[in-house]
Amino acid sequence: MQITESISRTRAMVRAAREQGKHIGFVPTMGALHVGHLSLIEAAKAACDFVVVSIFVNPTQFGPAEDLASYPRPFEQDCALCKEQGVDLVFAPTPEKMYGTADPVTWVTVERLTDHLCGAARPGHFRGVTTVCTKLFNIVLPDMAFFGQKDAQQVLVIQRMVADLYMPLTIHICPTIRESDGLAVSSRNQYLNAEQRSQATCLYRALQTCQTLVTEGSRDVEPLIAAMTKVLNEAAHGGIEYVNISDVQTLEPLARIKDRALVALAVHLGPARLIDNILIDVSES
Ligand code: AMP
Repeated sequence: MQITESISRTRAMVRAAREQGKHIGFVPTMGALHVGHLSLIEAAKAACDFVVVSIFVNPTQFGPAEDLASYPRPFEQDCALCKEQGVDLVFAPTPEKMYGTADPVTWVTVERLTDHLCGAARPGHFRGVTTVCTKLFNIVLPDMAFFGQKDAQQVLVIQRMVADLYMPLTIHICPTIRESDGLAVSSRNQYLNAEQRSQATCLYRALQTCQTLVTEGSRDVEPLIAAMTKVLNEAAHGGIEYVNISDVQTLEPLARIKDRALVALAVHLGPARLIDNILIDVSES
């Protein structure tokens, strides 16, 4: 496994692999790798012959009051995990390599889809995500890139950007990996103390409550959101950021579930901002 911060070296290695007829799989990450990331790598290994993982804590997707400085960066451990997983190349650029030293002037933005959910509370976040993904895609030129359903809005925004800009790659979505008590695995879970960690199960419990009510026949969104809010409020936490049931394509809020819906929530718990979601499909019931 090669590890490089060099754009030209990454390009040369990918080009050489492609010349050998290999399909290139790409897993963009911010490091602090966990079983969620490893599931993406596994999917990339299964579908492609040459797997590139990027490790880059992208400064442009963090707001000024967010955790850019404290975001965990266990680089050696991440590289060891990648090696164990059979990754071919780790691309770990510096912020200067990706953005230069002056303030960036070139951005890629996806409108409207980014106004909702996480985009509403984190202005500029998705602009950072779409810009860095465009840069990474242009450097790696993968056939397939692998993203987690855990970040539902992110993957929708990326899929839309790739389609609208005719980027020549396929986006593959991998299911959310959870702890045994349902908490979605996240690099930010390590910010939680023991009490907050046990309270954090309220996210998945709220989503399950919604799923159960829908299975029992509920379709109106307002009572579903009230039921989820009640579950979240029972855990003492720093505040609910959003609880939404949205159209799966536009992310516009729904009044009633007709076929497929994205149920998504964001909660502040101590120093951590946690998100989770499930997809609900009532089209055949
Ligand atoms: P991050 O390092 O947090 O930017 O995440 C890198 C990729 O891993 C993104 O596509 C995430 O959606 C995905 N990911 C993070 N946590 C999970 C999880 N628990 N299950 C599946 N994918 C995940």
